[in-house]
Amino acid sequence: MTRILDGKATAAAIRAEVAERVRELTAAGHRPPGLTAVLVGEDPASQAYVGSKVRGCAEVGMVSRTITPPATISESELLGIVDGLNRDETVDGILVQLPLPSQISEKKVVERISPEKDVDGFHPVSVGRLWLDQEGFTPATPTGIVELLKRNGIPLAGKRAVVVGRSAIVGKPMAGLLLREHCTVTVCHSRTADLPSVTREADILVAAVGRPAFLGGEHVREGAMVIDVGINRISDPAQVERLFPGDEDRRRQLAAKGYTIVGDVHYTEIAPKAGAITPVPGGVGPLTVAMVLFNTLKAARLRQELSGGAR
Ligand code: NDP
Repeated sequence: MTRILDGKATAAAIRAEVAERVRELTAAGHRPPGLTAVLVGEDPASQAYVGSKVRGCAEVGMVSRTITPPATISESELLGIVDGLNRDETVDGILVQLPLPSQISEKKVVERISPEKDVDGFHPVSVGRLWLDQEGFTPATPTGIVELLKRNGIPLAGKRAVVVGRSAIVGKPMAGLLLREHCTVTVCHSRTADLPSVTREADILVAAVGRPAFLGGEHVREGAMVIDVGINRISDPAQVERLFPGDEDRRRQLAAKGYTIVGDVHYTEIAPKAGAITPVPGGVGPLTVAMVLFNTLKAARLRQELSGGAR
């Protein structure tokens, strides 16, 4: 029987733990952790991501704020905002929502964030700390995946992990985090030769490709743990029927919203073979917000010199 790994339940447990820690912190006379998001322009997807993080903060008792400069902001003005947040003692975590408009160098902006407030874990100092096994911030999505695996009792040490995708926000940090957990890790990408033969070796297979239902039955061996990071919108009814034959819920979603969200894994092909699998939606997605809150608490504890970060 394939286990469905419930990201919503794991994320709810993490949020409840963070909320408890925030209560302890404030009861001991410390100020609540503070997160500031910078959302440039009016991209609806970015607004939705930032909105869920900011709401998540409020729910666990943190202080959150969103700064919303127009898409026409200059690079130097945006760097000035980041400088101000770096100096602001009440701000523990800074999130600059990507992508940024073309006149602004994302690299410059990310590098301007103080590594002590880099709760996204994208700063080169954070990346270096991950690979050097030093304490620091690691990107929310892959960090959440490790929590999901551990909290569901899936053994990691000694397992063969294959990560498909090598982006700086998912694939690469995922590989580093699984290595930390003593997996034997292979990273695949668009130039990997004979992808199915590599992915079939995986005990733990992570798909972070950005292509709907890209991995099919031929990519997975029986009993593998399959983690689907992909969030892809599809709106073609024929494609939905091909991927989810006879799935009435999907059809209703398509009719109501004009699209349905699909992962990078062909769920109906892979689920029967897998030992465990994350659904999309409701798998990896909810963990991302939970881990941003976790990182903000950790930043606050480190900045207020409370021992050991968040745990
Ligand atoms: P990117 O586009 O940055 O990276 C995609 C990766 O997939 C690249 O490394 C690319 O290889 C690889 N790839 C593309 N085509 C192939 C192929 N044919 N064979 C093997 N590898 C291939 O995407 P992200 O990492 O940012 O995101 C991946 C997915 O995860 C997306 O669907 C995104 O929406 C989702 N996502 C979900 C989050 C969540 O909270 N659940 C958070 C972040 C992302 P190459 O480097 O060679 O080009």
